[in-house]
Amino acid sequence: MAKICVIGSSSMDLVVTSSRRPGAGETVLGDSFKTVPGGKGANQAVAAARLGADVTMIGRVGDDAFGTAILNNFKANAVNTQNVKPVTHMESGTAHIVLAEGDNSIVVVEAANREVTPAYVDEAAEVIQRADIVLIQQEIPEETVVRVSEICAQSGTPLLLNPAPARKVPDEVIDKAAYITPNEHEAEILFQGMTPAEALRKYPNKLFITEGSNGVRYFDGEREIVVPTYKVEPVDTTGAGDTFNAAFAVALAEGKPLQESIRFANRAASLSVTKFGAQGGMPMRSEVEESLK
Ligand code: ADP
Repeated sequence: MAKICVIGSSSMDLVVTSSRRPGAGETVLGDSFKTVPGGKGANQAVAAARLGADVTMIGRVGDDAFGTAILNNFKANAVNTQNVKPVTHMESGTAHIVLAEGDNSIVVVEAANREVTPAYVDEAAEVIQRADIVLIQQEIPEETVVRVSEICAQSGTPLLLNPAPARKVPDEVIDKAAYITPNEHEAEILFQGMTPAEALRKYPNKLFITEGSNGVRYFDGEREIVVPTYKVEPVDTTGAGDTFNAAFAVALAEGKPLQESIRFANRAASLSVTKFGAQGGMPMRSEVEESLK
């Protein structure tokens, strides 16, 4: 079994649907409300576990009811939660989402996710260094991403950085990461002043730009390669990137060659967009293998 360590955010998404978005000072009646576990770190951990990896999450929740629900969701998906410690007197991370007038508005409160600090990951350094691959995103403090890249570099553990949400990444992290997987928007922010083609050439076999229904683009040292994704009827593309990153990590950790790993990840991510919700659509290993036949 591939050992994967995911370091990142966990949160509860509070989703309201309403025919109209309230203006300042206004109250409107909504149509429905639900709570859904989310956060890029948690999403990627759950996706990797469903794909058959032995997954350890390093993250934090609050000491509230959402924290308990987030932990239960990890357990239901066979994610090891020994390193997801509740922060006392603190709320869990939440995303407050209003779906109205065909669009969403979101307020994110990081809360306990801010406590995924360099000192906190240092305590789990052994778990990080024993992994076949480490997967990290940017919904935790930047200094923690830097620290994790140092821990990985010390032991030679490959680090997959999914630079989402979009924010600049320190050069030292780009140097130390084995794989970097922005979408097109994130790539623009990350490599300001460079065209995508220039960025790809600068980081052969390291930078993989995901292009939605187009697939994935990278430079193999000689030429630019696009690995096309699979044609599906998309229902909800939330979490496509999370599924892609988890599946890419699982395939690489299993020692699959690069292009085969991208194909596996494209297949998993394309299946995920055919169902509603980020985690709701994440496929099991058997579904991916069946559809690759
Ligand atoms: P993000 O979700 O982070 O914005 P992308 O939109 O680039 O990232 O999607 C990530 C990956 O998910 C793509 O490279 C592809 O494999 C898969 N994917 C996304 N949208 C589709 C789609 N409409 N059809 C098939 N695959 C998709």
